[in-house]
Amino acid sequence: MRVKTADLLSDSFENFLGVKQGEPLSPLLFLFSINDLIEDMNISPSADIVNINEVLIYLILFADDTILFGKSPEILQELLDKLLIYCNKWNIEVNINKTKVVVFKNGWQPVTAKFFYNNEELEIVDSYIYLGMLIHCNGKILKTQKRLALQGSRSLAALNNSTNGLYLTKKKKCDLFDSMVASVINYASEIWGFHRGNDVEIIHNRFCRSILKLGKSTPNVFLYGELGRLPMNVIRKQKVLKYWLKIVTHKPLIVYDIYILLLRDANTGKTNWVSNVRDLLFSIGLNFVWYQQSGINISLDVIKTRLKDQYIQSWSASIQDCEKLTMYRILKLDFCFEDYVDYNYNSHFFTKLRSGTMKLNVEVGRYTNILRENRLCTCCNMKSVEDEYHFTLVCPVYRHVRLQFLPNYYCSWPNVTKLMYLYQTKSRSLVGKLCNYLKSAWQIRSHLIS
Ligand SMILES: [Zn+2]
Repeated sequence: MRVKTADLLSDSFENFLGVKQGEPLSPLLFLFSINDLIEDMNISPSADIVNINEVLIYLILFADDTILFGKSPEILQELLDKLLIYCNKWNIEVNINKTKVVVFKNGWQPVTAKFFYNNEELEIVDSYIYLGMLIHCNGKILKTQKRLALQGSRSLAALNNSTNGLYLTKKKKCDLFDSMVASVINYASEIWGFHRGNDVEIIHNRFCRSILKLGKSTPNVFLYGELGRLPMNVIRKQKVLKYWLKIVTHKPLIVYDIYILLLRDANTGKTNWVSNVRDLLFSIGLNFVWYQQSGINISLDVIKTRLKDQYIQSWSASIQDCEKLTMYRILKLDFCFEDYVDYNYNSHFFTKLRSGTMKLNVEVGRYTNILRENRLCTCCNMKSVEDEYHFTLVCPVYRHVRLQFLPNYYCSWPNVTKLMYLYQTKSRSLVGKLCNYLKSAWQIRSHLIS
C-alpha cells in the first residue's frame, strides 16, 4: 500500500489493520472491493431471473449487505455457489449466522427446498429486515407496521423521559413527537402506506391522549380535533403521493420501469400499489392529475391540502355520529389546535367536559342503558338531566362556587348560548375561571355522592 499526495508517492508499506467500526470510509472501501462481484457472477437471462426491461435483477448490494434472489430454488443455489467462488478468490468471509433465506409464497405451504453455502445449510426464515424495514414472506405489511409501532413506542418513552421536568408547551411536544416518533412509525410508508397501520395509530393516539390527559374512552376524533392533528394514515398517504409524484416526474431508473409494469397490471384491474394511488387520487378529486402523468402540473402542497380537507370532512361526519360529542359538535368550529390546551391552568376538567367524558350522569347512564331523560342530577331536586349545561350553569348545589369563580353574567339566567360562549372562549382568564369552578364543583359533587 502507498499513499499518494499532490506530487509525491510514499514508500510502500503493508497494512494489517482494517478501519474502525463505524468509520465513514469503510462502506466506500467496501464498495470499491466488491464492485467486480457482479461481473464474476456472470448470470445470463432466463425465466428464473427477475428481468425488468432487459435489466437482470438478482443481486442487491448496500454497504456490506448483500441480497441474492431468483425465481427458483435452483437459481438461488447457483448464485450462492458463485458468491462462494468469488469470496474464496478474494478471501472474503460470509457470516453464515447472519445469512438467511426467505421463500416468498402465498399461504402457508411448507418450504421443502434447502440451500447451502460452503456446504453449510442456511436457515430459512419468515422475514428479514432490509434497510430497517421488515419484509415478510407473505408479502403482507401487518408485521412490518407492528415492528415499527414497537420501535415507535420506545421512541415515545425516550421522548417522555427527555422532556420530563422541562417546561414545554404542548404544541412544542407535538412538534417533537413528529420529529422523534412519527418519523419512526411512518418509516418507509411510501411503500406500505396503504395499510391501515392500526398498531402505529395506537402509538399516536396514546401520545395525543397523554397530552390532553384523557382516558381510553375519549373518541379519537376529539383528540385529533383538539390538537389539530391528522391521524398517521393521512400523513402516510401524503408520503405515498409525494413518492408517486417523484417517480412519475423524475422517472428514476428501474423504479420507473417497475412502476410501468405495475401500472400495466393496475390497468387490467389488478389491485396493487399503483391502483391504490389511482384510487386515492380519484377519491380526492384529482382525476386529472392521474391522467396527465406524462406532464404533471400540480404542487405537492395542493395534494397535501386535498388530503387534509378530505380527512376534515370525514372527521366532521364522525363527530356528528358520536353520541359523546353532542356538545362538541356545536362548539367546535374549526379543525385546529385549541390554544387553551397550552394555558397553564387546571384545564383537565375543561377538556373532559368538552369531550363529553366527564362522568356526569348523562354519560354514565349510557353504560347502564338508562334512557337519556332519566339520567338525572342526584345532587339537587330539580329532576333535570345531569349534563354539561346543568352542571356548569344550572345546578343550585354549586351556586356559591359559581358566584365565587365565574363572572356574574354566567351566574343567573342560564341559557345554551352562555354555555357555548364559555366552552368556546379563547380568553385565557375566562378559561382559568371556568377551570377553577369545574374543579371545585366536582369536589362538592364527589363529596355529596359518596
Ligand atoms: Zn343538580
